[in-house]
Amino acid sequence: MGKGKLLICATPIGNLKDITLRVLEELKGVDLIAAEDTRHTKKLLTRYGIKTKLTSYHEHNEIVKAKNLFRKLKDGSKIALVSDAGTPGLSDPGYHLIKTCVESGVDIEVLPGPCAAVSALVISGLPTDSFVFQGFSPKKKGERCRVLSELASGKRTLVFYESPHRVKNFLENSLEILGDRRMALVRELTKKFEEVIRGSITEVLSKIKDRELKGEIVVVFEGAKKKRDFDGKTVRNEVVILMSRGFGKKEAIKMVSKECELPKRVVYEAVKDISAKEGGN
Ligand code: SAM
Repeated sequence: MGKGKLLICATPIGNLKDITLRVLEELKGVDLIAAEDTRHTKKLLTRYGIKTKLTSYHEHNEIVKAKNLFRKLKDGSKIALVSDAGTPGLSDPGYHLIKTCVESGVDIEVLPGPCAAVSALVISGLPTDSFVFQGFSPKKKGERCRVLSELASGKRTLVFYESPHRVKNFLENSLEILGDRRMALVRELTKKFEEVIRGSITEVLSKIKDRELKGEIVVVFEGAKKKRDFDGKTVRNEVVILMSRGFGKKEAIKMVSKECELPKRVVYEAVKDISAKEGGN
């Protein structure tokens, strides 16, 4: 048997024609395909007449399975790694196996192709020169708001994956914390109901207010534009909002001073009559 190799293969995010010739060739030729959901990948393989053996590699067996696949690679197998859609390892299983291979010197190659984050970014019409890929935002509101607060003052475009059930809440939280800025809600890319809703966060919220959004969604926000002129009242409100969400006064002052690019002393002055326990209102 030859030298083992792991091939990270990108697969379509909707339209089955979005697959490279190289990926098809390798999926045909490898010893084994490690797939997130074997039934899902089977459909892709059937479409292209590929009969290669499949094994599952998903988030619930990722660590154990990584060891197992790693042993096969060490024994000389050539294995293709695929996820249900797009690029493996990106908000999808893959990281553990890839890390193990890198650390142990197993040969590894990436076969590039579809990725929802990059496709959404370029179709958003927002700056593409520099961006942050944040993946899925946390389910718990407090954590989600903390993540948004950390990103609020950054100038780079922000890219999030989001579920259709949570997207309205997510946009409301984003409006509060990031302020009203340009965005794009990108839905069902490469599929029949592909749609891009552009506008300010307020405009997009109003466009989707009476709709039940379905399918797969990427949310793209423009980065913070330029330093806003913050008056004492705005600064005070920002601190009060954060405290009412459970942040301590000191932490809230620190976050607001960072977001508004103001010295902590200035923020402290604006809220010095609020007690540390008050938590707003
Ligand atoms: N690894 C994948 C990639 O490279 O894009 C992402 C996998 S992640 C589990 C799935 C999320 O990606 C979805 O919830 C959605 O946010 C986004 N996504 C995947 N396909 C999409 C599509 N066709 N249109 C819009 N967003 C999509």
